[in-house]
Amino acid sequence: MAPALGLYGGTFDPVHFGHLRLATEMREAFRLERVVFLPAGHPWQRSRDTYAAGAHRVRMLELAIAGEPAFAVDDREVRREGPSYTVDTLGEYRREHGPERPLVFLCGTDAFARIETWHRWEGLLDLAHFAVAVRADDAEWQSKGPGAVPKALWPRVTMSLKDLLAKPAGHVMTFAMTPLAISSTAIRSLARISSSIRYLTPDPVIDFIHQHQLYGSPACPTRSP
Ligand code: ATP
Repeated sequence: MAPALGLYGGTFDPVHFGHLRLATEMREAFRLERVVFLPAGHPWQRSRDTYAAGAHRVRMLELAIAGEPAFAVDDREVRREGPSYTVDTLGEYRREHGPERPLVFLCGTDAFARIETWHRWEGLLDLAHFAVAVRADDAEWQSKGPGAVPKALWPRVTMSLKDLLAKPAGHVMTFAMTPLAISSTAIRSLARISSSIRYLTPDPVIDFIHQHQLYGSPACPTRSP
């Protein structure tokens, strides 16, 4: 069987070290050959559009993962007209990689807890496994624990990586990543009031944010010369 492929969806507005650490730890834990970052074009679940344009979010991801051969960025959702449905993207990946290859969709607990609201969500587990990172800043999950997994998916939960990797899709497994309470929201808020965002996201991403005056930031670097 071909090695498992990790697919990591999100808005990445902007990408930060929480995202990069999640991808790094999950790649090792789930023995993924690669992790492909899939920035959403029009995240239909949010009442608002993204703050940075798709092309800018893609570029920030490229800058963030430069030099890491096990990571890649796929901008198909940004290029796609209309809403970004994960089920469509997973369907495309399944067709491209064949019926046997394990596909593992990576996400945090806050995103996974809402899975029953995703478009055609019942079909998602037919296409991929779900690896769910326990998010340090997710108070609801911290209080409920694994009970926060939607009930309909309880039969899909496994604790066995061997079982998961033996199948192309269908399992849910939680993962206790290094807790990093970093969010894109916090970075945007800091940028807006000209506070430093250093050590929350890679320096080339910070430079890009300032060059393009994203998130209301002034056109000056946060870094000392
Ligand atoms: P925002 O603050 O704008 O909502 P975000 O920081 O949650 O953004 P997203 O792009 O929405 O970032 O996240 C993509 C995926 O990464 C989601 O599944 C989310 O749960 C997960 N994620 C984001 N930040 C972290 C983190 N610090 N730890 C664990 N998982 C995270």
